[in-house]
Amino acid sequence: MQRTPTQNTRKTSQTPRRGRSYDPWEHADQLGIEVVVRRLRTANGRWFPDYRQILISDRLRPGQQRLVLAHELGHGALGHPDDRPKHEKQADQFAARNLIDPDELADLYKWCPDEGRLIQELGVSRRLLRAYVLSQPSI
Ligand SMILES: [Zn+2]
Repeated sequence: MQRTPTQNTRKTSQTPRRGRSYDPWEHADQLGIEVVVRRLRTANGRWFPDYRQILISDRLRPGQQRLVLAHELGHGALGHPDDRPKHEKQADQFAARNLIDPDELADLYKWCPDEGRLIQELGVSRRLLRAYVLSQPSI
Protein backbone atom coordinates (compact mmCIF):
# COMPACT_ATOMS: atom_id res chain seq x y z
CA MET A 1 0.00 0.00 0.00
CA GLN A 2 1.31 3.42 -0.92
CA ARG A 3 1.26 6.42 1.29
CA THR A 4 -0.02 9.51 -0.37
CA PRO A 5 1.99 12.69 0.04
CA THR A 6 -1.15 14.53 1.16
CA GLN A 7 -0.71 12.97 4.58
CA ASN A 8 2.05 15.41 5.28
CA THR A 9 0.26 18.57 4.21
CA ARG A 10 -0.48 19.52 7.82
CA LYS A 11 3.21 19.62 8.66
CA THR A 12 3.38 23.29 7.79
CA SER A 13 0.83 24.10 10.46
CA GLN A 14 2.65 22.22 13.23
CA THR A 15 3.51 25.49 14.91
CA PRO A 16 0.17 27.01 15.81
CA ARG A 17 -0.58 30.56 14.76
CA ARG A 18 -0.42 33.02 17.60
CA GLY A 19 -2.71 35.78 18.70
CA ARG A 20 -6.27 36.21 17.55
CA SER A 21 -5.93 33.57 14.85
CA TYR A 22 -4.73 30.94 17.33
CA ASP A 23 -7.07 27.97 17.15
CA PRO A 24 -6.82 25.76 20.27
CA TRP A 25 -9.09 23.14 18.69
CA GLU A 26 -6.60 22.66 15.89
CA HIS A 27 -3.75 22.72 18.41
CA ALA A 28 -5.44 19.97 20.47
CA ASP A 29 -5.64 17.92 17.31
CA GLN A 30 -1.93 18.38 16.68
CA LEU A 31 -1.12 17.36 20.26
CA GLY A 32 -3.29 14.26 19.99
CA ILE A 33 -5.61 15.46 22.74
CA GLU A 34 -9.29 14.73 22.54
CA VAL A 35 -11.67 17.58 23.39
CA VAL A 36 -15.24 16.90 24.49
CA VAL A 37 -17.81 19.64 25.07
CA ARG A 38 -20.44 18.64 27.58
CA ARG A 39 -22.28 19.63 30.75
CA LEU A 40 -19.85 20.13 33.64
CA ARG A 41 -21.03 20.78 37.18
CA THR A 42 -18.08 22.34 38.89
CA ALA A 43 -15.64 23.62 36.33
CA ASN A 44 -15.36 25.35 32.98
CA GLY A 45 -12.82 22.85 31.79
CA ARG A 46 -10.79 19.87 32.98
CA TRP A 47 -7.74 17.95 31.83
CA PHE A 48 -7.65 14.18 32.30
CA PRO A 49 -4.02 13.07 31.91
CA ASP A 50 -4.80 9.34 31.93
CA TYR A 51 -7.08 9.70 28.93
CA ARG A 52 -5.35 12.62 27.21
CA GLN A 53 -8.74 14.21 27.18
CA ILE A 54 -10.09 17.68 27.93
CA LEU A 55 -13.66 18.37 28.91
CA ILE A 56 -15.09 21.81 28.20
CA SER A 57 -18.35 23.10 29.62
CA ASP A 58 -21.13 23.44 27.09
CA ARG A 59 -22.48 26.44 29.02
CA LEU A 60 -19.65 28.69 27.91
CA ARG A 61 -19.84 30.96 24.92
CA PRO A 62 -17.50 30.05 22.04
CA GLY A 63 -15.05 32.82 22.90
CA GLN A 64 -14.84 31.59 26.50
CA GLN A 65 -14.48 27.98 25.40
CA ARG A 66 -11.52 29.07 23.32
CA LEU A 67 -9.78 30.62 26.35
CA VAL A 68 -10.59 27.70 28.65
CA LEU A 69 -9.38 25.20 26.07
CA ALA A 70 -6.15 27.17 25.54
CA HIS A 71 -5.54 26.92 29.31
CA GLU A 72 -6.39 23.21 29.58
CA LEU A 73 -4.10 22.53 26.62
CA GLY A 74 -1.31 23.98 28.73
CA HIS A 75 -1.88 21.21 31.27
CA GLY A 76 -1.94 18.68 28.45
CA ALA A 77 1.11 19.93 26.58
CA LEU A 78 3.13 20.26 29.79
CA GLY A 79 2.02 16.85 31.04
CA HIS A 80 0.54 18.06 34.30
CA PRO A 81 -0.71 15.25 36.55
CA ASP A 82 -2.87 17.57 38.69
CA ASP A 83 -3.98 21.18 39.09
CA ARG A 84 -1.85 22.45 41.93
CA PRO A 85 -1.35 26.26 41.90
CA LYS A 86 2.05 26.10 40.20
CA HIS A 87 0.54 24.15 37.33
CA GLU A 88 -2.35 26.60 37.06
CA LYS A 89 0.13 29.40 36.59
CA GLN A 90 2.08 27.47 33.97
CA ALA A 91 -1.09 26.58 32.08
CA ASP A 92 -2.13 30.24 32.07
CA GLN A 93 1.26 31.28 30.73
CA PHE A 94 1.13 28.60 28.05
CA ALA A 95 -2.33 29.80 27.00
CA ALA A 96 -1.32 33.45 27.07
CA ARG A 97 1.75 32.88 24.91
CA ASN A 98 -0.45 31.28 22.25
CA LEU A 99 -3.40 33.64 22.51
CA ILE A 100 -1.33 36.82 22.51
CA ASP A 101 0.79 37.84 19.57
CA PRO A 102 3.76 39.84 20.90
CA ASP A 103 3.81 42.17 17.88
CA GLU A 104 0.13 42.91 18.23
CA LEU A 105 0.55 43.57 21.94
CA ALA A 106 3.52 45.89 21.37
CA ASP A 107 1.45 47.76 18.82
CA LEU A 108 -1.51 48.07 21.14
CA TYR A 109 0.67 49.37 23.97
CA LYS A 110 1.47 52.39 21.81
CA TRP A 111 -2.06 53.76 21.79
CA CYS A 112 -4.08 51.79 24.28
CA PRO A 113 -3.39 52.82 27.89
CA ASP A 114 -6.35 51.02 29.40
CA GLU A 115 -6.09 47.37 30.43
CA GLY A 116 -9.82 46.78 29.94
CA ARG A 117 -9.59 48.01 26.38
CA LEU A 118 -6.40 46.04 25.81
CA ILE A 119 -7.94 42.69 26.77
CA GLN A 120 -10.93 43.48 24.58
CA GLU A 121 -8.69 44.14 21.62
CA LEU A 122 -6.64 41.00 22.28
CA GLY A 123 -9.67 38.81 22.96
CA VAL A 124 -8.23 37.44 26.21
CA SER A 125 -9.11 37.64 29.90
CA ARG A 126 -7.42 39.95 32.40
CA ARG A 127 -5.90 36.92 34.12
CA LEU A 128 -4.31 35.70 30.89
CA LEU A 129 -2.94 39.11 30.00
CA ARG A 130 -1.32 39.35 33.42
CA ALA A 131 0.08 35.84 33.09
CA TYR A 132 1.57 36.91 29.77
CA VAL A 133 3.14 40.08 31.11
CA LEU A 134 4.60 38.20 34.08
CA SER A 135 6.14 35.61 31.79
CA GLN A 136 7.76 38.30 29.62
CA PRO A 137 10.11 40.29 31.86
CA SER A 138 11.36 42.28 28.88
CA ILE A 139 8.09 44.18 28.39
ZN1 LIG B 1 -6.05 24.66 35.10
